[in-house]
Amino acid sequence: FPCEVIRNFSIIAHIDHGKSTLADRLLEKMTGTITKGLKGSNPQFLDKLKVERERGITVKAQTASMIHNHDGVKYLLNLIDTPGHVDFSWEVSRSMAACQGALLLVDATQGVQAQSLSVYHSARERGLTIIPVLNKIDLPAAQPERIAAQIQATFGIDPGDVLPISAKTGKGVDAILRAIIERIPAPSGAPEDKLKAFLFDSSYDRYRGVISLVSVQDGILRKGDKIASYHTRKKYEVTDVGIMYPEEVSTAKLMAGQVGFIACNMKQSSEAHIGDTVHRVGETVEPMPGFQLAKAMVYAGIFPVDSNDFVKLEESIKRLTLTDRSVTVQRESSTALGQGCRLGFLGTLHMDVFRQRLEDEYDANIIITAPTVPYKVVYRDRTVLVSNPTEFPDVVDTSSRVKEVQEPTVKATIIVPEEYLGEMMDLCFSHRAEDVDHRYLDTSGATNSARAILTCTMPLSEVVTDFFDKLKSRSSGFASFDYEDAGYKKSNLAKVSSSPVVTHAMADKFRVKMVFLLNNKPVDALALIVHRSSEQQIGRAWVKKLHKVIPRQLFEVPIQAVIGKKVVARETLSANRADVTAGLYGGHVERKMKHLENQKEGKRRMKRIGSVDLPQEAFFDILSTK
Ligand code: GDP
Ligand code: MG
Repeated sequence: FPCEVIRNFSIIAHIDHGKSTLADRLLEKMTGTITKGLKGSNPQFLDKLKVERERGITVKAQTASMIHNHDGVKYLLNLIDTPGHVDFSWEVSRSMAACQGALLLVDATQGVQAQSLSVYHSARERGLTIIPVLNKIDLPAAQPERIAAQIQATFGIDPGDVLPISAKTGKGVDAILRAIIERIPAPSGAPEDKLKAFLFDSSYDRYRGVISLVSVQDGILRKGDKIASYHTRKKYEVTDVGIMYPEEVSTAKLMAGQVGFIACNMKQSSEAHIGDTVHRVGETVEPMPGFQLAKAMVYAGIFPVDSNDFVKLEESIKRLTLTDRSVTVQRESSTALGQGCRLGFLGTLHMDVFRQRLEDEYDANIIITAPTVPYKVVYRDRTVLVSNPTEFPDVVDTSSRVKEVQEPTVKATIIVPEEYLGEMMDLCFSHRAEDVDHRYLDTSGATNSARAILTCTMPLSEVVTDFFDKLKSRSSGFASFDYEDAGYKKSNLAKVSSSPVVTHAMADKFRVKMVFLLNNKPVDALALIVHRSSEQQIGRAWVKKLHKVIPRQLFEVPIQAVIGKKVVARETLSANRADVTAGLYGGHVERKMKHLENQKEGKRRMKRIGSVDLPQEAFFDILSTK
């Protein structure tokens, strides 16, 4: 396949607008790539992971090639399916780098949503040709003319260029194929030039080692070639090369313009750098601009429910991170929960998906601590990045060595029908939003209300808790939301609407560490970093929860939430008079010992915090309920 007959494209859209469904339709239209039998049992062919099927979302971008006959010419179309959720935008930009064009899907019943905007902008930044597509026109609620007008107002796209389709029924899909061939430029590589390939994804295969997805920019990549990584300078021999059709199909070579897989004698996934340039040994090439590494935004500790399972858990985490390179891993140990790992994720959905994959695919039984964002603690002489609440300084005020604490902020975009605009602004202000601004995407008509777009900056920590749930419920599900990194900032309490009176001393204490004490002993795994304005509320809620979950002991146990030396909330767990050993007091020592022997099995899973015995499962209950 020479370059002229190759088209590399991705499908981009807000979540649920139909990317995976359209990918299925395209694959099936072409080549019968998905056989009928498979199709029935396997909707959304490219969503391979169990978690993706269950949740109906795409987590990992997949690549597939197909051959299409157009006016008697055979074209090679390379499709890259992408995830739509904000946490996975790293995967989206990675996929786009291998393409010249993108199908921008917009649901004809929903209209332009927050991620429609963000994916459109990243496609534009990369210079991709965009084919606008209106999906789900089979639905009675579809409003194709109105949404086409909205697309024109938002992106400046002529309604005449928008293709109306139904990915479900297949209506209009032929027009998409024509548009892909006619509108998207062919890749511009030169097969006679020196080999230069762009590595944009990798996965690990138990038998063959690391499999990398590459887009060949120039030259020809053949089986048996000696290649080198620009980034690591390491050398390899290509043992297999081919296209994803949609499973791996070996071909003798990949030509300039093609996208496909390579296997080489690469043992460790860490050697495959996303964004790396691959060239032939002995030749020098100009590297392609790489990617920014994914930046962890949310951290949490993961511990085995049974501490004996740590080795197995760590092994499972290592294997899983080979297929998801955006997760960072460090060891962590806790007096309450024993050995575990501290993991960094791109967002809370990402964290949730990872947890579910550990449970589904590795049968892991785990406890995951409350998520926290990474803070920068500025001391007089150095700055420390803190991603674990236990490392956060106990007191932050003008008298301590800490000069200030900075927190990550994001630029948030919310799209919502106008009647919810006020509600959404309130929500943002109560989550310490600044620079709140809005404009309209269209005007209201007889049967519909105008769409407003609201932008603001917010601390990331406000977003990672329950913001998304509140946004959905307070907008009756109509609001869509996206955010991008806006750097670290020292929080300015003066702009918090809920606390108009601010002193300088308070501004220095905006983030504090909250510790929970059981019988006056701290439980490290439960430490939190909270904002001063919500310390009471959070402290009370957690203390109540602990009171409910912790089994009663032989003696009274005070449960306290403290900040520095100040007790913010307190409950008392009364003594349990009906304990099995209670009646044995003063009795035979032997009898008592025997009783304890019987309880040994249960004791094995007990954690002792000071003098309080806690079953590990209690932590599971504490940390897994909201
Ligand atoms: P993605 O998140 O963009 O990959 O969206 P999916 O392809 O998973 O589709 C989301 C939902 O919309 C699924 O329930 C699909 O069956 C449904 N869907 C997708 N395209 C159409 C369509 O053209 N018509 C109708 N009625 N439903 C569709
Ligand atoms: Mg999908």
